[in-house]
Amino acid sequence: MGTRPLLNRRLHGLGTTIFAEMSALAAATGSINLGQGFPDTDGPREIAEAAARAVLDGRGNQYPPGPGIPELRQAVAEHQQRFRGLAYDPDTEVLVTAGATEAIAAALLALLEPGDEVIALEPFYDSYAACIAMAGAVRVPLTLRAPDFRPDLDRLRALITPRTRLLLLNSPHNPTGLVLNAEELAAVAALAVEHDLLVVTDEVYEHLVFAGAHHPIAALPGMRERTVSISSAGKTFSFTGWKVGWVTAAAPLVAAVRTAKQYLTYVSAGPFQYAVAEALRLPDGYYADFRADLLRKRDLLAAGLAAAGFRVFNPEGTYFITTDITPLGEKDGIEFCRTLPERCGVVAIPNAVFYDDPDAGRPLVRFTFCKRVEVLEEAVSRLSRI
Ligand code: PMP
Ligand code: GLN
Repeated sequence: MGTRPLLNRRLHGLGTTIFAEMSALAAATGSINLGQGFPDTDGPREIAEAAARAVLDGRGNQYPPGPGIPELRQAVAEHQQRFRGLAYDPDTEVLVTAGATEAIAAALLALLEPGDEVIALEPFYDSYAACIAMAGAVRVPLTLRAPDFRPDLDRLRALITPRTRLLLLNSPHNPTGLVLNAEELAAVAALAVEHDLLVVTDEVYEHLVFAGAHHPIAALPGMRERTVSISSAGKTFSFTGWKVGWVTAAAPLVAAVRTAKQYLTYVSAGPFQYAVAEALRLPDGYYADFRADLLRKRDLLAAGLAAAGFRVFNPEGTYFITTDITPLGEKDGIEFCRTLPERCGVVAIPNAVFYDDPDAGRPLVRFTFCKRVEVLEEAVSRLSRI
């Protein structure tokens, strides 16, 4: 095959995702997996039954419509109205995707030219770097720093150049748990309007906010026509394997994203779309109970990690806790996470892999708390032995 590398230059260095690596390590060592963010309890039984019914009734077993089944697009539009006060036309302003992951890929592939600069909150969720690279664009990190991880808005202004095309936001933010507040969003929106930038906002943890509230940037003045909002059923309904996500945006933006989406997957899993349409219409009590349950788990894990000697940065949202391992006499999160399974039978994620500048995240390690209480208690007891 000659000497030319098989993997092209754009993907160079992206290797295997940390989530796959760490989940494999957990399986191989029989460790408790507090790495990859997936619940160990499935979502509501009636929603699982809705999916099974759709399969058995022959709904969605053949290619569903490219933009998503009308029932789900309608339900997404209703959900945006109900929780965010945002009105979207289900026919032209909603697009169903194969998880938020495909929505991110399609949005970036559709909206970017090679050489465009994308400013993203660092640490970034790993698929952002990969998708920006696949689009031939350039990522420009706005680094969030401990202890509060709040964005430096003067720095953001300074990062904008004539080549900046797009701001890639994520709030609630994985892995730090930051939730952008109303003032921060207003400042970001004002910069986007002033410099005529597009905004892609990943809001998959929109229902997991423990302090403050989730504010959609799309609702701010001048933002509707320039914002692509992305969410997904995986986290909100505890069915991460279903991979049903969606985009809401003004019609020209949805048309652009749809153009890329139709050549990525063409369509997304049919029967699950019927089930997610039902899930989105669950009563407010579902969403409140889900949040309350995870808040209890957050507090349990945060207290346990602190007692074990970690410095804990309590998250405002998501189901992740970022910690600093320095007080344990440790320096390197990657090394720490590689050896943690053999030391105490727990798997975590090193935040360094989410940074361009690995020094910025070196001592930070992320734990998820979307696990059963007894699993979290056992993990805490194991961690307290290190
Ligand atoms: N964005 C963020 C910030 C995430 O943490 C995840 C993982 N759920 C995704 C996107 C991917 O979502 P999905 O599983 O719906 O593709
Ligand atoms: N979003 C999940 C996390 O951050 C993982 C998703 C994935 O494995 N790509 O843990």
